[in-house]
Amino acid sequence: MRDQFGRSITYLRLSVTDRCNYRCRYCMPPEGVPHKAHGDICSLEELRDMAAAAVVCGVRKIRVTGGEPLVRRGVVDLCRMLRALPGVEELCITTNGALLESMAEPLRQAGVDRLNISLDTLRPDRFRAITRLGELADVRRGIRAAEAAGFSHLKLNCVLMGGVNDDETADFVALTRERPWQVRFIELMPMGPCAGWDRDRFVPVIRVLERCPELRSERSQGVAECYRLPGAAGTVGLITPMSHAFCGTCDRIRITADGRLKPCLHSMEEIPLRGLKGTDLTEAVRQGIARKPLGHHLESGSDTGRDMNEIGG
Ligand code: SAM
Ligand code: SF4
Repeated sequence: MRDQFGRSITYLRLSVTDRCNYRCRYCMPPEGVPHKAHGDICSLEELRDMAAAAVVCGVRKIRVTGGEPLVRRGVVDLCRMLRALPGVEELCITTNGALLESMAEPLRQAGVDRLNISLDTLRPDRFRAITRLGELADVRRGIRAAEAAGFSHLKLNCVLMGGVNDDETADFVALTRERPWQVRFIELMPMGPCAGWDRDRFVPVIRVLERCPELRSERSQGVAECYRLPGAAGTVGLITPMSHAFCGTCDRIRITADGRLKPCLHSMEEIPLRGLKGTDLTEAVRQGIARKPLGHHLESGSDTGRDMNEIGG
């Protein structure tokens, strides 16, 4: 289905929990998220039905996200249900990788096509400092397990932060020499805990090209501008929500774990989907798509009214 500006909406980001086993400093407060009653979060079947309604409206690709999606009990079953929906062509997950060592194989068996793994640093001490609770070794084991399970073209998402990890860009880029991965540098967006951070932390990802001048431009893939080191197995992606809004070609909608459709990541607007069934549910999704705004105004801050762990990026 097309929205009122003619954009074809084919991509759903489905948040399955707002909880997480990490507390990344830019995403979550140290104490985690306020406890929600069990009934405030959609059941797996409700999430499946909402995704199915989105598929009826033209969605072809679903990304399961969170919070940390792999801490949601039953997430493997949910993935199996989503992949079985007629019309779904691609099922992806964005994860911090902490639980992948044991879950990569079951997720592959459930039909997950691709994995994005978030990784902001390659240094164990820094990893602990950024995530507050994480161990880099767990993620490294998770990455190996993902490859062994058949997720060969992994995407590694690195949020670039001035004075925190921007001295590691060349190390990240070097990972692509041997592995067929895409290392994606993402601009930090001023939301939630990082909304008031010092401006120096918000680094344009184009700086990666200054630090790695040997990178050569390739054809863009979705929101990522792509580059490759000469002869490298993998690629480097630059994702620029801050310095270059890609709203004009936005093809996505989002559904939160409490069952609200967000037509735009940075808008307050939400359409409640819980309790709706059949054509009422499909109609609500249609309305959400129709109400997608033309763009965001991130340079003056996000209006989203939620933290990133509730929406899923
Ligand atoms: N827990 C999973 C993970 O970290 O991959 C999935 C959810 S997380 C909210 C999705 C993505 O959003 C991660 O890659 C994370 O780094 C990114 N993210 C969170 N807050 C952000 C912010 N303020 N600006 C840019 N990216 C952000
Ligand atoms: Fe958790 Fe992902 Fe947010 Fe980090 S970015 S706190 S891993 S939801």
